[in-house]
Amino acid sequence: MSEGPEVKITADKIWNTLSGKRIIDILHNNIDSSLKDKIIGSSTEYVKTFGKNIIIKFSSGVYLRNHMMMWGKWRIYERTEYESGTAKSPPRSSYGKRKYKNTDKIQVKRDEVSDVRKDSRTQLTIITLDKVLIQFNGPILQFSLNDLATMEPIVSLGPDALSPNYDKDVVLDIIKSKSKNTEMIISNALLDQKVLSGIGNKYKSEILFLNNIYPFEKVTTFTKDELNGLVMNVPRILKYGYENSGRTRKPMDNEKISWDTTHWVFRRSGKPCWICGTKIISERKLTARPTFWCPNCQPINVH
Ligand SMILES: [Zn+2]
Repeated sequence: MSEGPEVKITADKIWNTLSGKRIIDILHNNIDSSLKDKIIGSSTEYVKTFGKNIIIKFSSGVYLRNHMMMWGKWRIYERTEYESGTAKSPPRSSYGKRKYKNTDKIQVKRDEVSDVRKDSRTQLTIITLDKVLIQFNGPILQFSLNDLATMEPIVSLGPDALSPNYDKDVVLDIIKSKSKNTEMIISNALLDQKVLSGIGNKYKSEILFLNNIYPFEKVTTFTKDELNGLVMNVPRILKYGYENSGRTRKPMDNEKISWDTTHWVFRRSGKPCWICGTKIISERKLTARPTFWCPNCQPINVH
């Protein structure tokens, strides 16, 4: 699951691997042969993120956009291990609903395919002199000679909460106009990439907890100051995740670092709130994606 901060962490890794390196080969099922020829022999001009999108620009003028949705992932290998067959496939993460119902932990099982070259999930392979980058599962990989940042869907994204140019007043204007005369609830507003970009299901729950907001409150019932405060706090929370490998909660002194201590409420239903001890609850019907919250810290109509 890649939200803005995780996507930016991945983009940094791609840039650190490709920067200054010549592309020896690029493999993708549907790449146009003329674009492939252009990329081979070129280097990488930049790797940027736009919300949850990554754009790689090659020095020959070809752009590549990747959106990982829930399933995509990248891995980087030494070319020697790749070619000798010792580069291992990443584990398959299963978010199966039946398993997920009873536990908030991700079920991970080792992939049966050990040689990554035989992994059917591979969508894209980029080879340099010493490294091999593999993109698994796509699902969106778009090549173009036009700057994809100026085209849909990126051109319609709301301000990027991780961008230095993030403008909360623009977000406030969009959120007000989109919610006017509607029943839009705050959880769904935060997930709407046209309001502001980069927030996914995890950060949605964490942001609402850290702002003591009931997740199903209608946007139209918020005061101007309440909305302003929320929108202003979003970049700080995403930036913390970006700088701390996706964590949202700072560990306490001597606390063991584990999945259980990483978040405030996300995937913690049934566990005690870190602040008040009340059991965290989750809701899967009122919003398209599960929402986790503390009923004591985030009561109805408190804000
Ligand atoms: Zn609480």
